[in-house]
This record gives sequence, C-alpha cells and structure tokens, in this order.
Amino acid sequence: MRFLTFVDEGGPRLGALTSAGDGVVDLAAAQQAVTGRPAAIGTLRDLIEAGPAVWTRLAADLASADVAAFTRPLAGLRLAAPVQPSKIMAIGLNYLDHVLEGGRKPPERPVLFAKFPTAVIGPGDAICWDPALSDKIDWEAELAVVIGRTARRVRAEEASGYIFGYTAANDVTARDIQQGDGQWVRGKSLDTFCPLGPWVVTADEIPDPHTLPIRCIVNGEVMQSSNTDQLIFRIPALIEFLSRAFTLLPGDVILTGTPPGVGQYRTPPRFLRAGDEVTVEIDGIGALTNPCVIEGPAPT
Ligand code: ZN
Repeated sequence: MRFLTFVDEGGPRLGALTSAGDGVVDLAAAQQAVTGRPAAIGTLRDLIEAGPAVWTRLAADLASADVAAFTRPLAGLRLAAPVQPSKIMAIGLNYLDHVLEGGRKPPERPVLFAKFPTAVIGPGDAICWDPALSDKIDWEAELAVVIGRTARRVRAEEASGYIFGYTAANDVTARDIQQGDGQWVRGKSLDTFCPLGPWVVTADEIPDPHTLPIRCIVNGEVMQSSNTDQLIFRIPALIEFLSRAFTLLPGDVILTGTPPGVGQYRTPPRFLRAGDEVTVEIDGIGALTNPCVIEGPAPT
C-alpha cells in the first residue's frame, strides 16, 4: 500500500492511494464510517505504532469495503510529508560511485549524522533559505527507510521485520556550513532541508530495496542517476549499526545516502537558486518535487 498525508481545511489527514494510483482514500472518514466513532488513527505514525495486525486488517477492510464515498482525486490535493519522524538518521558517503566521485576511499563503518525533524517538509513545499546564511545549497537524492517497530540491538538478519516502508527524500545541504562547521548537523538541518514523500510505499511492495533506479532532476536536467545497488552499507546492516547504539522508534526515518552528481562536485560547481525546481525520483516509489525560495532578510 501507499500511505500519504494530505491537507484540507481541517488540517493534515491520513490517506491511502487507490490501487489505480489516481485517488486518495480518506482513512479517518473511512474508519469513522466503519466503526461509528471518531478515527483512532489520525496520522501515519499512529498507524505504524498500532502494529502489523492493524495494518493487515486495514488493508483487508479497504480491499473489501466500498470506499468510493471517501475517495478524492489525487490531482489537486495538497500533500504534506507522509510521516513526521521523531528522528532522522542519515548516512554519508554510502554510494560507492559517490565516494569515488569525491576522490575518497569507502568508509569502514557507516558515516552517521542527524537531521532535525523540524527540517521535514512535504511534496510541493518550498526549500527555503537565507542567502546571508548560505549560498551553496545542494541536492542529494536518497532512498528513505521508515521504521515499523521499536528496534534496539536488532541483528541484520532480522532487520527486514523492522521496516514499515520506503519513501523518497532530498537531503538538502548547505555545503558552506557543512564544511565550515567541522561537523554536519547545522548544514543539514536548516528548516525545510528534509523534503520527504510523496508517500510511503509499504515494504511488501518493495521486496528488494537494493535494486532501485534513483535520480535527481533540477529544472528538467538529470543531475544524479544511479541505483540503490551501489549502497556500501545495505539497509539491514544500517539497522544493526544504528540500533546497537540507540532505540529506533516507529516512524523514524533513515536516509541511506546519495549517489554521484551532487552540485559541489560538478564542473563548475552548481548550487540551487531561487526559482529552481528539484525532483527526487525513485522507481517503484515515486517523484518528490520541491521549488526553491529565498527567505527575506532576517529580523533585526
Ligand atoms: Zn545525504
């Protein structure tokens, strides 16, 4: 299934894409119609936390019920980020072709950094920055893993049972801040610097996440084009590495790294500008597009 968050007058609502892909079932309205009570599950994080028995029941209900009355056309719906994670773990230098592009050697263990949840935006939302803070804003197309259940000290062989699904992410980065700070968190965590979406595809629909073509397109020009088969540390190894150190919670997101073609390594280097439109596209998942906007002057 494909779960998303859409926004109407009342705020964000959990939806499921119809199998034809052109409609969105309003899951809160559908739950209320079935149970006669206000929906218990309001967000994708609620649904993930409810556990596999509820996911299975929901899928069966949607397959058997007539949901036409609760279905809206996808076209014209405003989407938000499909999930609001409690934390975003990101892996640097994890595509072999990207490591070689930077003239480096593959790392011996995953290079971990974090992005703050306040950086998350949805499809169509603006990537926005203050030009006085940074003028080297770069794109990074990434496959994002959404955690399905609390994970602590999970072995790689068991890791697939802890994955809810996958989405596309743009690990937007202020290169001048990233390189000037001595560590990466600030340059990676500016507000709006973590577009996620357009939806979360459940893990059963992607039996092997290490075979997916992945691209980044800026104003129609393909900047990155690779395949998740280039991952140095694969997803099960990442879940083992991360969960050995700390607890992964339902809805948490792992950004798995980016392929070559980022702006800073282009000749000449190329960075995002106001008015640009940047798309991350992963086969089997979908396309995540965001415009770029300059913030006004900071308050004095
Ligand atoms: Zn990245």
